Amino acid sequence: MDATTPRQSPSRSMKVRCCIVGGGPAGMMLGYLLGRAGIEVVVLEKHADFFRDFRGDTVHPSTLQVMDELGLIDGFLKLPHQRLQTMDGLIGGTKVRIADLSRLKTKYPFIAFMPQWDFLNFLREAGTRFGSLEVLMKTEAVDLIRNGETIAGVRARTPDGILDIEADLTIACDGRHSTLRERAGLSAEEIGAPMDILWFRAGRTPDETENLFARVEPGKMMVTFDRGDYWQCAYVIAKGQYDTVKARGLPALLDDVVRMAPVLKRGIADVKSFDDVKLLTVAINRLKRWTRPGLLLIGDAAHAMSPVGGVGVNLAIQDAVATANLLAETLARGCPSEDELDAVRRRREFPVRMTQAMQVVVQNNIIKAALKGGDRPLKIPLILRLISALPWLQGIPARFIAIGVRPEHVLSKAAPLS
Ligand SMILES: Cc1cc2nc3c(=O)[nH]c(=O)nc-3n(C[C@H](O)[C@H](O)[C@H](O)COP(=O)(O)OP(=O)(O)OC[C@H]3O[C@@H](n4cnc5c(N)ncnc54)[C@H](O)[C@@H]3O)c2cc1C
Repeated sequence: MDATTPRQSPSRSMKVRCCIVGGGPAGMMLGYLLGRAGIEVVVLEKHADFFRDFRGDTVHPSTLQVMDELGLIDGFLKLPHQRLQTMDGLIGGTKVRIADLSRLKTKYPFIAFMPQWDFLNFLREAGTRFGSLEVLMKTEAVDLIRNGETIAGVRARTPDGILDIEADLTIACDGRHSTLRERAGLSAEEIGAPMDILWFRAGRTPDETENLFARVEPGKMMVTFDRGDYWQCAYVIAKGQYDTVKARGLPALLDDVVRMAPVLKRGIADVKSFDDVKLLTVAINRLKRWTRPGLLLIGDAAHAMSPVGGVGVNLAIQDAVATANLLAETLARGCPSEDELDAVRRRREFPVRMTQAMQVVVQNNIIKAALKGGDRPLKIPLILRLISALPWLQGIPARFIAIGVRPEHVLSKAAPLS
């Protein structure tokens, strides 16, 4: 702990085997898996609930498979969601099919669009059956507790004061602005992204249908998702250009949007001011070292993902599954050694690198070129022309997006329920 740490003495303290910081997809799934394995685990989430701004709502076949292996799929798919099987784009006025998930040999060949808070609430609710799992909301980790070189837990701020949580193992799942990463002195290698995203909703009526998901024109790019009674829209801008977009004014932005996606003509009236438009800054980075003695980082805390492919949530889930597979048994007895903890990086770094490489290829060859603008018509990259022309190729991007590299399966054991 250092000078910026709240100086009060803890009003309370607790001791657990494992403390997970962050109740996002990585933290909630890992909490569920460790609770299921009978390990005494607490998950800290700084917010009061899971209802907040956009956090990625795409549940891919890899995650659906994990839910199936956990016996949770039937209840999960009863929650309201939309399904997406084919991804079509309009590039410079030409329609191209980017991916077709129906070509995959997988039990759930579709992407389920579900608000992330529904997914996280579902996991939280399902985890209540495990006596060894506790989820503490409104509990923000502000520092690490150290015992010499070893991380021995976290200090947290709660509505009732400071809480010290001593833990044999602390797992940081606190996202791309990870406090624990910073406190542990681990820095990420920045790979960079040329864009940011403006995120907004436009109303939708049942007769407004369109199968397109991406639209690319010189200087502009936009993605729309049918979310039932609204369209979720992602308008891509060049990095750092938000002030310029704002200076042009809202009507100019909305005109561009409707010109690209006429289906939004009626619903765009829902965007009344820039307060209805959220700026999401995009980053791609990864840690070289994911551990310290007594500490492991996974999910975006270890590797921030670009929104390209909508894979970040699913990678975070895969990290959680791998962590439980590799560590649950040892953790049941005590804290794994740093080398044992590092097994998670050794397993997951390759899929992360491959996925980020794919995101960089898309960023550099499609997004950067599109955002450059100019008068010349946009050329569809050769690879996309091939994929669109040869339907059997559409299974390749589909597999990459939907299942990813080195998919994880649940191998950690379930302890008998008491
Ligand atoms: C613009 C944009 C669009 C994206 N679109 C998609 C998409 O469509 N599909 C997709 O799969 N991925 C998408 N991603 C990526 C995705 O959001 C992340 O990869 C994913 O959410 C990572 O999950 P996580 O659990 O590691 O971290 P997070 O989802 O960031 O969760 C971290 C959690 O920790 C909590 N927390 C943070 N600090 C503390 C603390 N100190 N104490 C306690 N709690 C704390 C936070 O409140 C949060 O709940 C997108 C990313 C961006 C930037």
